[in-house]
Amino acid sequence: MELFNQYAFIGCEASLENSDIVLFGAPYDGTSSFRPGSRFAASRIRIDSYGLETYSPYLDRDLEDRSIYDAGDLSFSFGNRELVLNTIRNFSREIILRGQKPLMIGGEHLVSLPAVEAVSEKYPDLMIFHFDAHTDLRNDYMGEKFSHATVIKNIWDRLGDGRIFQFGIRSGLKGEFQWAQEGHTFLNKFGYDRLPRAIEMVKDKPVYVTIDLDILDPSIFPGTGTPEPGGIGFSDMMKIIKMLSVLNIVGADVVELSPDYDPTGVSTAVASKVIREMMLIL
Ligand code: MN
Ligand code: MN
Repeated sequence: MELFNQYAFIGCEASLENSDIVLFGAPYDGTSSFRPGSRFAASRIRIDSYGLETYSPYLDRDLEDRSIYDAGDLSFSFGNRELVLNTIRNFSREIILRGQKPLMIGGEHLVSLPAVEAVSEKYPDLMIFHFDAHTDLRNDYMGEKFSHATVIKNIWDRLGDGRIFQFGIRSGLKGEFQWAQEGHTFLNKFGYDRLPRAIEMVKDKPVYVTIDLDILDPSIFPGTGTPEPGGIGFSDMMKIIKMLSVLNIVGADVVELSPDYDPTGVSTAVASKVIREMMLIL
């Protein structure tokens, strides 16, 4: 598999063999319904990471004490979605089989599906913690089953009821909310007040965390494909990550930064910092 690695994310200095966490980019935005551009996220995030420190005062942890390898970005044959998803699934599987944890930078949200598929092969009792403005529970989007707007429904098709916990959700079809509330997922509208309850429910079961950055309010994170007013603030995001640090997280992704929609660069800085914090709790 061909990988391109011009700049590694700050603090990712371990070799592939000696790392516990493998960071990689999945620069795919082929199903974006509104504004594409998330394919550029991973490379911008790496450059921006040099504006960060390796130490997090939020978590009192330092990347220098972790063994992380930055594998660069997967190369895709862009027009072929099936091939893109296979590439992500195979690469995630290789990481899991080596006993490491994958941390993927999207790309659009559909990239989470093959990563979750690979992780759930090893952990059949996998739980999903999903942070997003959007339900992502459609059966299809304009006739298409595989889309950023259907990704969590596709994950449900694989895992079933009682496995998916959603937070920050403030947009979706009435039918998606109803379907979730019939008990298919644990859906926390608008915020994350029910996160402590969810953490209590999953205990030490393996967890995959997927963060669609549009959970953040567009006033601090305008650089995304489908901005959705009414989101959480940055300090909320830091609180959430700190709360997640007690979980047995076996894989994660951070998706939906589209850096070019925010010429100030702040959205990219926000995304870089979220990724640093996720590295520190994996
Ligand atoms: Mn979203
Ligand atoms: Mn999403």
